[in-house]
Amino acid sequence: MRTIGILGGGQLGGMLSEALYNYGAKIVFYDPDPLSPSFHKSANHYQGDWNDAAKLEDFFRQCDLVTYEFENVATDLLNYLIDKTKKPLFPAENVLKITQNRISEKSFLKQNNLPVCKFIACTNLAELTSNAKEFPFPFIIKTAFGGYDGKGQWVIQNQSELEKSLAEISLLGNSTFIIEEKIDIFSEASCIVARNKKNEIECLPIFDNIHKNQILYQTNLPSQLPTIVQKKLQDIAIEATEKLDVIGLLTTEFFISKQKNANTNQDFEVDEFQIYINEFAPRPHNSGHISRVACSINQYDLFARVLLDLPLHTPKLYPGYFCMGNLLGSTWIKQKQGKNLNLSCWKDHPNIVSLTLYGKESPTEQRKMGHFVCHADNIHDCNKFSENFRKDLNESD
Ligand code: ADP
Ligand code: MG
Repeated sequence: MRTIGILGGGQLGGMLSEALYNYGAKIVFYDPDPLSPSFHKSANHYQGDWNDAAKLEDFFRQCDLVTYEFENVATDLLNYLIDKTKKPLFPAENVLKITQNRISEKSFLKQNNLPVCKFIACTNLAELTSNAKEFPFPFIIKTAFGGYDGKGQWVIQNQSELEKSLAEISLLGNSTFIIEEKIDIFSEASCIVARNKKNEIECLPIFDNIHKNQILYQTNLPSQLPTIVQKKLQDIAIEATEKLDVIGLLTTEFFISKQKNANTNQDFEVDEFQIYINEFAPRPHNSGHISRVACSINQYDLFARVLLDLPLHTPKLYPGYFCMGNLLGSTWIKQKQGKNLNLSCWKDHPNIVSLTLYGKESPTEQRKMGHFVCHADNIHDCNKFSENFRKDLNESD
């Protein structure tokens, strides 16, 4: 029986642990938060800071191999731990080093002729201020390290927004930033690829993603993009997985635009669509929750099979239309029942075929607390049923 260590005790680690359990593995979580929702899913867990070398070393020693759902652990420390304990990390520390920093991530895309928007790296506030003056509006300033769910991002449409944002940013203390052109997005998509040590590769179908306030709101399947565009996205995601030498899982987030500009690269133009990679996540991804219901193998199961050296399986999409809706803390707050959620309205929504709650203790407005999956015969009904369910859930009674 193998013991798998997971850095991070949130919902992604929790759902991965369920897949690993199915194959008889033991799980150990590590997370600084004593209320990590997945701690209760493991026989053993470590609660410690991300820079507590001694505790992390102890954790590594308990495991046969380690993976992560949290991407912001210092890679120098991880290298030290891998070296000292001889326990491997999947995907490897070098993958994390490139993808955890938006500057190295976008530089990697550029160097490898993968599709990327125009960007400038800024190593301090002074550089950010002078580069931002030259960059054509609209653009987005992002902290290079540590952002998620739109945190650490400033969308800048004009001069007054720039001044306001720079004033806000200057209060954060010095940091590294990236300025990105704001893409005129037609749609967003993601592609999840699993690759094992034998270089066997499996790819989940393309997911269409809808964001609200820079947070994933809904994922739809099957993708509404033309088949030829979907094929191109899968090819790019596979190429990226190989170039990064990922053993494990790699999610590639894409922007699809119909707008050409001076930076348009014809290699990544299919039909009237221009393709950009937004970012990578070398781990299971929020959009991939939908595969637990809609596909013959899901992202967690594929990843578990890579980690345990089990044969892979080619994901098949089940018939019909699916959408996955994220449930944020705002729903809990509207229901006014603290950490509990009243699900009595579910009986009126037979198309909501699955619902997962993460067991988080404190709902805050934008916090991801759970998700549901809706299944219907056509995309119109699927969207309608899912919106109706949201409406009913958001009513307090
Ligand atoms: P996070 O790490 O928070 O997911 P992302 O860079 O993926 O950060 O940004 C979150 C969302 O913000 C994206 O899914 C997209 O909707 C929007 N966004 C981010 N960067 C850009 C961009 N360069 N152009 C247009 N929209 C963007
Ligand atoms: Mg993202």
